[in-house]
Amino acid sequence: MTVLRKNLIDGEWLGDAGSRNINPSNTNDIVGEYASAGPQEARQAIAAAKAAFPAWSRSGPLVRHAVLKKTSDEIMARKDEIGRSLAREEGKTLAEGVGETIRAAQIFDFFAGETLRLSGELVPSVRPGVGVEMTREGVGVVGIITPWNFPIAIPAWKIAPALAYGNTIVFKPAELVPESAWTIVDILHRAGLPKGVLNLVMGKGSVVGQAMLDSPDVNAISFTGSVGTGKRVAAASVEHMRKFQLEMGGKNPLVVLDDADLAVAVDCAINGAYFSTGQRCTASSRLIVAEGIHDRFVDAVKERLEKLVIGDALDARTQIGPVVDQTQLKQDEDYIAIGGREGAELAFGGDRLERETPGFYLRPALFIGATNAMRISREEIFGPVANVIRVKDYDEALSVANDTPFGLTSGICTTSLKHATHFKRNSEAGMVMVNLPTAGVDFHVPFGGRKGSSYGPREQGRYAMEFYTTVKTAYTFAG
Ligand code: NAD
Repeated sequence: MTVLRKNLIDGEWLGDAGSRNINPSNTNDIVGEYASAGPQEARQAIAAAKAAFPAWSRSGPLVRHAVLKKTSDEIMARKDEIGRSLAREEGKTLAEGVGETIRAAQIFDFFAGETLRLSGELVPSVRPGVGVEMTREGVGVVGIITPWNFPIAIPAWKIAPALAYGNTIVFKPAELVPESAWTIVDILHRAGLPKGVLNLVMGKGSVVGQAMLDSPDVNAISFTGSVGTGKRVAAASVEHMRKFQLEMGGKNPLVVLDDADLAVAVDCAINGAYFSTGQRCTASSRLIVAEGIHDRFVDAVKERLEKLVIGDALDARTQIGPVVDQTQLKQDEDYIAIGGREGAELAFGGDRLERETPGFYLRPALFIGATNAMRISREEIFGPVANVIRVKDYDEALSVANDTPFGLTSGICTTSLKHATHFKRNSEAGMVMVNLPTAGVDFHVPFGGRKGSSYGPREQGRYAMEFYTTVKTAYTFAG
């Protein structure tokens, strides 16, 4: 029998029957049952967060440090169990699930440290006898809205800084991954957060999320998800004059130059394009390959694709798990058909796979002969699908890489210091990788993009402070 996981509102676990969550590796396996909040619960959660803000924002670094450190320690101690549960509900592999869980623990640890490092500035005024202090304060009630593809890391990298800098939270996780969200909230709650500081409202985006967007009492919204929803968050936030931060899609280029180390380039392409079933905003979906290495690169990528083990996320041998759900699988297949109609050649995969259990298994797909004008090169697919775009040289590669509405991450494989240096400076992306996959980032440095990928201050690392605090300038005349 599954236990109903409830929403946390004002320190109480509330809710009755909700919706069930299934395992994408085995659709007969029900992961759990989760309460589904309505607009009324969302409003209660916002009111609770508002009431809790004055005390929490003045709680002092030691109290906040203790909660965040304790949370980090528990997540780390339970990394195998939580990582397994994450893999079961999202479909990424066990190794990826455990890795993501460790990362969440590291993020809480980092921001526990940041509570003790908050500083301000004291400067002389231009007026004699006057002192000027610049300090940072929490923003207020922060709405946190997250996607399904990093069920624990993305909530962690929003919740940890929000709490560290003295904000209170209404957290609305993605419908597909409530177990990971519930787990992190349960740990934080037991770590000693006062009531109302962190509220969990699981439920539909169009209902619970929308109620958050419509509330004048939500002072800031941190959102990660699709461009379409991001635009709604932006429009509603402007209406309420609130602070907002958006992390959205990507169509990230990996450039492979003739002088690249072939083995490194193939590793970067396989990892960047296909790991986590290609369901990463940082995935390398455009492989921009110079003509001198093109054929050798394509042959080597196909050879590696042949050997990849695609299967049940919970089987330790699996390298690529299933697609997250039926809707995403259909989207992947639709784009594979579109690519064919646009004239790209499907050089590998793209077909459904049968496994022992019913699941959303798709063989990773590689297109060759793609152009940068095709829809498969311009729109985010968010699945294990990559296109090879052949180019003449570095100059054409850079221009194709930058010719996109997105700008999250980019990569180049080359042994030329000159080209690597030029690419780092001229790539129009928020994160640039040299001889590394476009996906896979450190937890202690800024994360975010440009153009249609991101809006507002960066997330993670010390830069997170920009979003989660507001600056106060105080003048004192001491007489
Ligand atoms: P989505 O936009 O469908 O949903 C994201 C969240 O918004 C969910 O919690 C959803 O319930 C909520 N939501 C939906 N409608 C809403 C509304 N009207 N009001 C308020 N909230 C609403 O995105 P998804 O399918 O969960 O995630 C996939 C997308 O996320 C991809 O585009 C991917 O690139 C992006 N993503 C970006 C980053 C990044 O940092 N740039 C990281 C991971 C994922």
